[in-house]
Amino acid sequence: MNKSYDVVIVGGGPAGVAAAYLCHKCGLDYLLIEQGKTVFQGISDTYPEGKNVYPSKPKENPEPFLVEELRPPDKPVTVEKYIQYVQHFVQHENLNVRTELQFEDIRDERDGLSVLTSEGPIRTRKVILAFGSSVPKELSVYGDAKMVAKRVEDPKKYVGVRTLVIGGGNSAADVIISILREKREANDHQPVYWAHISEKFDVNKETAQRLGEEILLGGNIRLLPGAIPRIGEVDEEGVDRLVIRINEMRQPDGIEFYNSMSFPMKNVIACIGSQGPLPIYDKIGVQTIACAEGVCQVAKEGDRLILLTSEFESTRKGVYVVGGAISPSYMRISAGSIQEERHPNLIYTAINDASHVVDSIRKKLVPPAAPAV
Ligand SMILES: Cc1cc2nc3c(=O)[nH]c(=O)nc-3n(C[C@H](O)[C@H](O)[C@H](O)COP(=O)(O)OP(=O)(O)OC[C@H]3O[C@@H](n4cnc5c(N)ncnc54)[C@H](O)[C@@H]3O)c2cc1C
Repeated sequence: MNKSYDVVIVGGGPAGVAAAYLCHKCGLDYLLIEQGKTVFQGISDTYPEGKNVYPSKPKENPEPFLVEELRPPDKPVTVEKYIQYVQHFVQHENLNVRTELQFEDIRDERDGLSVLTSEGPIRTRKVILAFGSSVPKELSVYGDAKMVAKRVEDPKKYVGVRTLVIGGGNSAADVIISILREKREANDHQPVYWAHISEKFDVNKETAQRLGEEILLGGNIRLLPGAIPRIGEVDEEGVDRLVIRINEMRQPDGIEFYNSMSFPMKNVIACIGSQGPLPIYDKIGVQTIACAEGVCQVAKEGDRLILLTSEFESTRKGVYVVGGAISPSYMRISAGSIQEERHPNLIYTAINDASHVVDSIRKKLVPPAAPAV
């Protein structure tokens, strides 16, 4: 871990890519880390196929797009075209991006910060958190379940293995459909187990139809309603496993009977939804403040909003937060007062936040040139 960066950017959406490009242009030593396979993974996961992308801009905001290169075109293009354009742009500009690397935490060091990732720490002077508004939920089990996947990059990986998919909604069903299709094409009859904590699965009609079709075409699926993931453990061969209780019975004398199944974690996918970034703010120790009655206009009473300076620096020194991660509003500290600030979740706001933050970091890290004598 010898190398130290000026800036580590977490998340390769519009905010993160804009920040990386601007750091690149002004000569800061930076690294962008993205948990997905490519930049714009968040957008590619959440937009419906073929959706047009609009260069929307809040009416009350006079600023133009501050990174014209990343602005969606006025004549709307599909999300696939926009993503393709951005990926070419990142390649063409040779931006320093590492994909399939997940942010986990931030640690203070004597002379800066360490960003803890799924592959170890990275040292840096400043951190820009640009991980968007939706963070996949973690499985809460005793022990560690970090190896459990939250999405399927390549369904072929599950051919020939008994796979467990956890979650009762459309995204779990979509994952199962893609794996069943792959298994069918490879003539693999190993089952996919579908576990849900509640007794009732909840998918829309269109997804149910596609799932039904896969089953009728020979898909081998075993339903596990009321199944509860319990323990992450390492077995005697060193394999990380997830133990899931598929039924349990409690006696009045306190004794429990249960049946469990245990799957290698690499064969488990948990599609249990996403949440806002509050748990991450709590984990890394950046301060939030609860809205009191009558104080907030966008947030509701009791909602917790992140506290940021007018330069988007959090209460943790050197840690900035931008884009969807602070939408739809945050608490702005300025001149001794704290006020709720609207922050629409748009590509425009994400890009412009990044521009303001990189500008502020550049001023702090790059001393102005000495006047000529
Ligand atoms: C269906 C839909 C349609 C929309 N249409 C428009 C539109 O037409 N015009 C418009 O202006 N806006 C639109 N928006 C909003 C726009 O997409 C968001 O405002 C924008 O994507 C926010 O950018 P971001 O960079 O802050 O976050 P994101 O785009 O969410 O990017 C965050 C990135 O961080 C990565 N990440 C998350 N956690 C980690 C981690 N722990 N470690 C490493 N990486 C991580 C994610 O994989 C993701 O790639 C739309 C949103 C949706 C859902």
